[in-house]
Amino acid sequence: MLTTNNPSAMITFSAPLLRSIPLTHDVTQFDFSLEGQSVEYKAGQFFMLQLEDAQGKASRAYSVSSAPSEKLFFSLCVKILPDGRASQFLANFKPGDSAKFMAPFGHFFMTDSKKDVAMIATGTGLAPFMSMLPTLFEQGFEGKIDLYFGVRHEADLFYVDELRAFEAAHPNFRAHVTLSQPPDSWTRLKGRVTDYLNELDYSNIQVYICGNGDMVKGVKDFMQEKGVTKEDLHWEQFTAL
Ligand SMILES: Cc1cc2nc3c(=O)[nH]c(=O)nc-3n(C[C@H](O)[C@H](O)[C@H](O)COP(=O)(O)OP(=O)(O)OC[C@H]3O[C@@H](n4cnc5c(N)ncnc54)[C@H](O)[C@@H]3O)c2cc1C
Repeated sequence: MLTTNNPSAMITFSAPLLRSIPLTHDVTQFDFSLEGQSVEYKAGQFFMLQLEDAQGKASRAYSVSSAPSEKLFFSLCVKILPDGRASQFLANFKPGDSAKFMAPFGHFFMTDSKKDVAMIATGTGLAPFMSMLPTLFEQGFEGKIDLYFGVRHEADLFYVDELRAFEAAHPNFRAHVTLSQPPDSWTRLKGRVTDYLNELDYSNIQVYICGNGDMVKGVKDFMQEKGVTKEDLHWEQFTAL
């Protein structure tokens, strides 16, 4: 069930699209204006897009991929499905077009734990981490932060320059980017994100997982076997399977 953690803070608002930025062949970043709005949300939470098309009304959840400290706009990072209602609705949006949202929703946000952080993402599951990472840096978080980001092909990669810039600016952050179907020329990490999780120190860790259902379930089971407690295990699942 999709729930808001603070019903009194939830609002419905219209936001004009500022710009859309293609990130890959099928992932686009949409920046919506927050001017004149005061939406309180935490890094990692999602907004519900309320859409209306020829089939009628529908709503879809999208994790915010910009930091809450950004007061002028918020970003979504959306996989555009050829037959997807909401993703096609967004793909046809032009700057100035307004979309309706309800926000904020979800319990996938950082606790105030000082333990080291492991973030595990596949595909657009990277979105909430692009909100959490700058927020942790702004807060001066001193523990180690390891992000594992997996996609299939090189052409599916996005935000890698941003992740490398975070690494350069914050010595406590490492991004481990892996391709499950790399080209012969690929010299970096290969395989699934789960192939690399044994290298973490499980004595002092909080874990955040986001992506498709199979990956989330697999990593959750793995973390439980490693002894990660319920309080230290957080996940957001984008698809039912
Ligand atoms: C809490 C939460 C946060 C989410 N955040 C994001 C986000 O940040 N970015 C994002 O892109 N999505 C996110 N999603 C998924 C999003 O809500 C939609 O389900 C997704 O965009 C598809 O909606 P649609 O209307 O375009 O497709 P639909 O019309 O609902 O589906 C079209 C077809 O595509 C299939 N399909 C649905 N999802 C996928 C998929 N991911 N890959 C392949 N096939 C699929 C369906 O089974 C169907 O056959 C999130 C979901 C949840 C629950």
